[in-house]
Amino acid sequence: MDIKDIFSKLGLDEKSLNSGSLEVFTPVDGSKFASLKTDSAADADTKIAAAVEAFKIWRTVPGPRRGELVRLLGELLRKHKESLGALVSYECGKIYQEGLGEVQEMIDICDFAVGLSRQLYGLTIASERPGHKMREYWQPIGPVGIISAFNFPVAVWAWNAALALVCGDSIIWKPSEKTPVTAIACQKLFEEACKQFGADAPKGLSQLLIGERDIGEVLVNDKRVPVISATGSTAMGRIVGPKVAARFGRTILELGGNNAIIVAPSADLNLAFQGILFGAVGTCGQRCTSTRRIFVHDDVYDALVPRLKKAYAGLSIGSPLDAKTLVGPLVDKLAFDAMEKALAKAKAEGGEITGGGRALADKYTEGYYVNPAIVEMKGAADNVQEETFAPILYVFRYTDLEEAIARQNDVPQGLSSSIFTRDVLEAEIFTSEAGSDCGIANINIGTSGAEIGGAFGGEKETGGGRESGSDAWKGYMRRMTSTMNYSKALPLAQGITFDT
Ligand code: NAD
Repeated sequence: MDIKDIFSKLGLDEKSLNSGSLEVFTPVDGSKFASLKTDSAADADTKIAAAVEAFKIWRTVPGPRRGELVRLLGELLRKHKESLGALVSYECGKIYQEGLGEVQEMIDICDFAVGLSRQLYGLTIASERPGHKMREYWQPIGPVGIISAFNFPVAVWAWNAALALVCGDSIIWKPSEKTPVTAIACQKLFEEACKQFGADAPKGLSQLLIGERDIGEVLVNDKRVPVISATGSTAMGRIVGPKVAARFGRTILELGGNNAIIVAPSADLNLAFQGILFGAVGTCGQRCTSTRRIFVHDDVYDALVPRLKKAYAGLSIGSPLDAKTLVGPLVDKLAFDAMEKALAKAKAEGGEITGGGRALADKYTEGYYVNPAIVEMKGAADNVQEETFAPILYVFRYTDLEEAIARQNDVPQGLSSSIFTRDVLEAEIFTSEAGSDCGIANINIGTSGAEIGGAFGGEKETGGGRESGSDAWKGYMRRMTSTMNYSKALPLAQGITFDT
């Protein structure tokens, strides 16, 4: 792939991508491919002010017309799917097929949001007073701040932006400092969509803040931004959440996961095998929904786990741009060091490790390719509490479903979970009030690869936020209850009399 060709297809000016101090490296070989000008706190102030002004206009544009802008964005994404997918792959290191998949997710959420733009429904509510009506309205709330992680550099923006825009909000995006070039490409496509849309797209409707966490902090602390949607590590959410709460802002937090699959005795082991393999090694273990733990019933352990180990030994690891590759690189050396540390800890705790260690180090001295690892944990009470953002799969045995569900839940995070079973009672228990405590609980599919139609997010230290489908749009609006008196009297609620 020729990166210059990709830049030109996406209308990116190479010179301006090399005019600043924020260095951007590709995980493919660790080489630097851009150095961007960063925004100062004063720049952020100006951009937030512009987003506030744009909001005042945008909120008055009818919802279905706002949907038209998102439709145009979706069309441009369709047109540029291959080049944007390639840039995603180059900048964050996921394989090209997953880069394309990520852009497809953007297109899907645009389609969803276009339909939604005609369905921002409130309720009509029966009033207890004669001659009165009660209605609920959903109103635009203001500029929405979007902070995104490196591993879904463009889809997370789209999940938030498409909904916020049809809801009548302006948007301010602070992408990961590891993946800002894809953000510039998206901003360009958005500006093109605005041009096609016409004059009622106000100037400054979408703002981009380039920089490290300090510029994210400026956004987080600004009370002109009523909603902060932040995707990233739990450590980040632990700082951002209280700061936004202290100014009575709203957060949509999408943080770390520690996702598990239970493989029951009746499981279709072919499905379980595929689901686990994709979930554990896909995106080199760098998805918030990556499969990190499996609880395998004693009866099927020997039929499944050796098969997984064999598959791990034959995985095609290599450049994410090569069509044959299934496992690309980790994002950087820090990620590699974290993987090494987690494996050393597992070993010290008696874990039996298959795989692990650097791969292709001769070919890519500055690219961090690894052999995905399986760690068989022998102790019955073992569990793993931390998320390590790397392809490490911890394997546990179980005998009793209740105990397996309890162990699955016994971690600080609560994002994604699944069970492979053909026993309908087990499947129902898993999704019951006494089952999985995660935001996502699947049956006979793995933990990763969510569709945009459902609300996406998780509980506990995953942050509790919901994005994407279902009624997640309500997070981007304010709710107004309005009572209308069409009688000639003024009866009070709850039967109170107040005669003068
Ligand atoms: P990160 O927490 O290092 O950074 C995420 C973003 O937060 C970046 O843009 C960063 O600059 C910004 N940031 C960091 N500290 C900040 C602060 N104090 N104030 C404001 N902004 C701040 O995460 P990462 O390494 O880019 O991504 C990996 C993590 O993201 C993993 O934990 C993964 O599980 C999680 N993730 C979660 C979801 C989800 O939907 N739940 C999706 C993708 C990734």
